[in-house]
Amino acid sequence: MYTIVKYSHIHGRGVFAAIDIPKGTRIFEYTGELISREEEDRRERENDKTGVTYIYQLNEHESIDGAHGGNDSRFVNHSCDPNVEGVIKKKHIYYVALRDITQGEELFIDYAFDKDSKPEPCHCGAANCRGVMNAM
Ligand SMILES: [Zn+2]
Repeated sequence: MYTIVKYSHIHGRGVFAAIDIPKGTRIFEYTGELISREEEDRRERENDKTGVTYIYQLNEHESIDGAHGGNDSRFVNHSCDPNVEGVIKKKHIYYVALRDITQGEELFIDYAFDKDSKPEPCHCGAANCRGVMNAM
């Protein structure tokens, strides 16, 4: 296993490198239930009440909901200066190291939410922080 999930007082739960992870490593797959865009919209409304959503958009029509059958990858936090990217191959999403990651570092992905959806404020602290987790 490349990672461990830990609580940090800054981000709540996060995913950290358990060992050194070389650039290009496929760390894990973003697993979960394959759902339609309509079902995603329904769940987003539902989740707005509880505040937690683990839905990753796969393509125009489908998404993966990590809340159902998901693994630790769903706890990867957002940064505008990420060290991991989601690579989509067919109906799978793989989290791949964008650079060498040192043991103990937290993993971050750029959520890049739809620019037309509700702005989600970002406080990641990166020098290039966009101020929102949405794509520009
Ligand atoms: Zn940011």
